[in-house]
Amino acid sequence: MIERTLPEIRRRRTRLIAILAGYLPCIITVDLGLKALGVDGDPFLPYLFVLFMVLFAVAGWRAAATRCPRCAELFCMTRSVMGIQVGNVWTSRCVHCGLSVHDDRQ
Ligand SMILES: [Zn+2]
Repeated sequence: MIERTLPEIRRRRTRLIAILAGYLPCIITVDLGLKALGVDGDPFLPYLFVLFMVLFAVAGWRAAATRCPRCAELFCMTRSVMGIQVGNVWTSRCVHCGLSVHDDRQ
């Protein structure tokens, strides 16, 4: 179970970082590409922004919704504030039991 779940947690976090890091290069490439084709890209860029926000929200939710293979709690979500779960999707250890996301590599 740990051998399958910890790599999945790492993959989900990497996907989240890739979406975040890919936003600006994608916007710039699309804008420059459309300008090179003689097309005004300004009307399309807000749609591209919304697409990235949806992708980021889905990837963030998937990263946050991963359960720890040791304690079965949400790996990075700690508590509920007014009914909303809060946490840190960038944490490298389970916030409940301390299992490292790299423990399967030892
Ligand atoms: Zn745990």
